Amino acid sequence: MNAQNVIENLKKRFPNEPEYIQAVSVVLNSIEEEYNKHPEFDKANLIERLCIPDRIFTFRVSWVDDKGNVQTNMAYRVQHNMAIGPYKGGIRFHSSVNPSILKFLAFEQTFKNSLTTLPMGGAKGGSDFSPRGKSANEVMRFCQAYLLELWRHIGPDTDVPAGDIGVGGREVGYMFGMYRKLSHEFTGTFTGKGLEFGGSLIRPEATGYGNVYFLTSMLATKNIELKGKKVLVSGSGNVAQYTCEKLLQLGATPLTLSDSNGYIYDPDGITREKLDYVMELKNVQRGRIKEYAEKYGVKYVEGARPWGEKADIALPSATQNEINEEDAKKLVANGVIAVSEGANMPCTPEAIKVFQDAKILYAPGKAANAGGVATSGLEMSQNSERLSWSREEVDAKLKGIMADIHANCVKYGKEADGTINYVKGANVAGFMKVAKAMMAQGII
Ligand code: NDP
Repeated sequence: MNAQNVIENLKKRFPNEPEYIQAVSVVLNSIEEEYNKHPEFDKANLIERLCIPDRIFTFRVSWVDDKGNVQTNMAYRVQHNMAIGPYKGGIRFHSSVNPSILKFLAFEQTFKNSLTTLPMGGAKGGSDFSPRGKSANEVMRFCQAYLLELWRHIGPDTDVPAGDIGVGGREVGYMFGMYRKLSHEFTGTFTGKGLEFGGSLIRPEATGYGNVYFLTSMLATKNIELKGKKVLVSGSGNVAQYTCEKLLQLGATPLTLSDSNGYIYDPDGITREKLDYVMELKNVQRGRIKEYAEKYGVKYVEGARPWGEKADIALPSATQNEINEEDAKKLVANGVIAVSEGANMPCTPEAIKVFQDAKILYAPGKAANAGGVATSGLEMSQNSERLSWSREEVDAKLKGIMADIHANCVKYGKEADGTINYVKGANVAGFMKVAKAMMAQGII
């Protein structure tokens, strides 16, 4: 395989899909050497079969808003790869959602799920519907209308969706309810469910907690402690909130949070009490992060991201491409020692190069944020055996999985000079398992 040729060919076939091409390029460039050690892979054209999704469902969703107007949205489910287990991946509701973004997310999910060591294939879905500014009834009607079409294509052994941007416990609850009604079965077809109906303890916390666990493992390779470190966090949703919670538990200080309008900088740190306020503001009031600045009298910067602030560590936890080359240079110049991705693909390829050239610790999302889907996998196991595990049990398993993912990154990503290339490590480790499964299952 010549990675560049494959990328050029995919660009011609999918010319309007920059995020998908970006994700594919980063992976192919880092697995090329390993792939070419296996000539049987190329004979089976494994790479094209792995890059192009198994199938994509595209459909219109019609629903009625509170004023009685009929609205339409576009909706999708990308089923990327099922070689190692049922399709698994979140649902995103955001105005920016399009096939390119969902294809990049489903492609990444395939490798991430492989890394967790659990039997899950890769998928992603969503709609250009934005829950922001919508009433709870409108959100419920939209979720139900989305499921009217989606339900045919999912199931506990086929495809198990979860949350992502714009889809939290509330939305999963509405979708699960409609799925249950339409299928006339109570099965674990969604993860991230409420605790009363099959959800797993620690699932809401898992992505943020898992990223901080991964960060501590990375820091340990340099004998650095997390305690006492100042941390820039972006976003203020599920991942950002539980990232802050774990940082506080481990004695670090989160300084920033953001949303799509701007960021807040709290020089004294976001304390437990202030985090409780953020959780209420975002999850119940559904307000804007600007209100934090007004309440606590701290700096709010409209239309900007927090990467120019001084700190030791950066944990991007909002969305794709939120750290560009210029941001990365600022972070390095300000002395950041580690960047670990809570979000999916938050750093551009140019930004990643800046971190790698500066030899700071950098972990890609498919490794660092895999705790979310790993705990979804644990939710699936609990649903299958119709049991609920304790908080301690799930947290211990999550910690173990994050430690294993880190060990795998070290195994496949250790460079000759002793540094660890986490991009290469995560991609090669994730890829090899899926590749071997596909080879064993023939050309299908
Ligand atoms: P939420 O919807 O809970 O929160 C998303 C946050 O990011 C919000 O603060 C939102 O602000 C902000 N945001 C969204 N889009 C943009 C944008 N275009 N520019 C700036 N800010 C933006 O989502 P999650 O916390 O669940 O997801 C965050 C990231 O983590 C995503 O990349 C997701 O794919 C990834 N992830 C999530 C997992 C999970 O378990 N939830 C698992 C693994 C990865 P606003 O309110 O203004 O929209």
